Amino acid sequence: MPQLDLDTRDALAGAEAEFAPDHTRPRADVVPLYSPPEFVWRNDTERCRRCKRCVMQCGWRALSWQDRVGADHNKCVGCHRCEAMCPEKCIVVAPNPQHYKPHALWSVTHRKNVWKQGDTGGVLLTGMGNDAPYQVIFDHLVLDACQVTNPSIDPLREPMELRTFLGRKPERVELDAGPGSALALKTRLDPNLEIATPIVFAPMSYGSISLPAQKAIAMAAAECGILWNTGEGGLHEDLRPYAHCAVVQCASGRFGVHAGYFNAGAAVEIKIGQGAKPGIGGHLPGEKVSLEVSQTRMIPVGSDALSPAPQHDIYSIEDLRQLIYAIKEATDYAKPVCVKIAAVHNVAAIASGIVRAGADIIYLDGFRGGTGAAPTVIRDHLGIPVEIAVAVVDERLRQEGIRNQASLIAAGGIRSSADMAKAIALGADAVAIGTAALLALGCTLCQKCYTGRCSWGICTQDPELTRRIDPLVGARRIANLVRAWSAELEEILGALGLNAVESLRGSKERLRGLDVDPSTLDVLGVKPAGVGA
Ligand code: SF4
Ligand code: SF4
Ligand code: SF4
Repeated sequence: MPQLDLDTRDALAGAEAEFAPDHTRPRADVVPLYSPPEFVWRNDTERCRRCKRCVMQCGWRALSWQDRVGADHNKCVGCHRCEAMCPEKCIVVAPNPQHYKPHALWSVTHRKNVWKQGDTGGVLLTGMGNDAPYQVIFDHLVLDACQVTNPSIDPLREPMELRTFLGRKPERVELDAGPGSALALKTRLDPNLEIATPIVFAPMSYGSISLPAQKAIAMAAAECGILWNTGEGGLHEDLRPYAHCAVVQCASGRFGVHAGYFNAGAAVEIKIGQGAKPGIGGHLPGEKVSLEVSQTRMIPVGSDALSPAPQHDIYSIEDLRQLIYAIKEATDYAKPVCVKIAAVHNVAAIASGIVRAGADIIYLDGFRGGTGAAPTVIRDHLGIPVEIAVAVVDERLRQEGIRNQASLIAAGGIRSSADMAKAIALGADAVAIGTAALLALGCTLCQKCYTGRCSWGICTQDPELTRRIDPLVGARRIANLVRAWSAELEEILGALGLNAVESLRGSKERLRGLDVDPSTLDVLGVKPAGVGA
């Protein structure tokens, strides 16, 4: 594991301030209020061998060395990198036990936010997914199992089919007599993406994550026979060998977009919205736009990469159709076109329009989706859960007789193979995972990605931090995760008496609700537990 030496760290002095956007710092004309630290750092000084490794590993410069390790608790974000790297395992980073007087209305979080905004006068930023205590619907859905009257299947003895095809399917196929007694397919099939298991990686751009992190994800996708997604960052030259399994994204900033880019990938994705920040654009600070990022995004070094909130050439379904067909023309109709939207209140009608506009795949991103940076107020209060979005979109497309015209990818809070199985039963063809893949790389969900100082080398462009990720090792861990979830999905399918994941898609009758209010169950199209077929 590469180490940062102390001189290098000193050379990086002030790096956090460089990366932190202006509006997250106290204004010069304001004396900041005292705000207690969120975490308290302790080490066992008896066991400490004074190796300084913890000091070198902290990307946030919370630790320093003056004869012994000293901690600035206010800078500690609870990323636990120092704990993991301490050879004596003598560090404990724990939530600050300080208590404020409880108040049912004014939670400590609300109070701290007000104090912080009194200091800064700015928008509060955050990273990763929505952690507000909304009900997690996945946790209140249970799957069926075979008993007596219907046999289950043992996936260790019987073949299981997890292969999934993403794209437009024909309503029926017509056959012609071929040479001799053979039959030939007469129906012209639209391009489909074949994935070995119903998992794809969520869009994460080079810029928002480091190149080694993106490379690890791309390598895992190639190894597992699934797809990764460039996000809005263009396709880095080093990742060209993995372009065959890449979904190349075209978002509102058009970063890195050109005809060669569209043709390099397996599919093209038009990004309209993101679950973590529906309705708003993105901002990669100029400090993170290094030479390599600038070349990949096709923007000047050091310039802010601003993604507008809307795509400025799309103000209607008709405009979207024009872009979809422009991309199809540019790729000779050989690549499926996906449209990614955030899950919002009117998602079913929007999805119907997207299918009619010619999209082959719809990517539904629920409000728990991850992000490198988003205003906290947007992340926590806009959008709807993916469970509901998938269920209503699947139902609407079925009612309109157009369900086969597009595949659905469910994203935004898929944490396990159980969530994956439930999402598929609610109507998804496949799921996308982003946060889970980063967790497999070492992320501890400290939610400070927007600072650019990730100690784990994931959400940063600082070469001293990014080199902490070995793409080969990372790819192995992520591929293991995909293999593990796939094996568990086979177990679930076997218990349901199914031997193909296709048979689970949209089978809401194999789900039951526990502790979910009747109106939500009604929207989901799921019966309460205890009610039979
Ligand atoms: S890494 Fe552990 S052993 Fe080394 S200086 Fe830090 S606390 Fe001490
Ligand atoms: S490495 Fe992480 S947990 Fe350790 S002191 Fe730094 S910020 Fe805190
Ligand atoms: S990627 Fe890094 S900064 Fe972001 S949540 Fe994970 S550990 Fe924290």
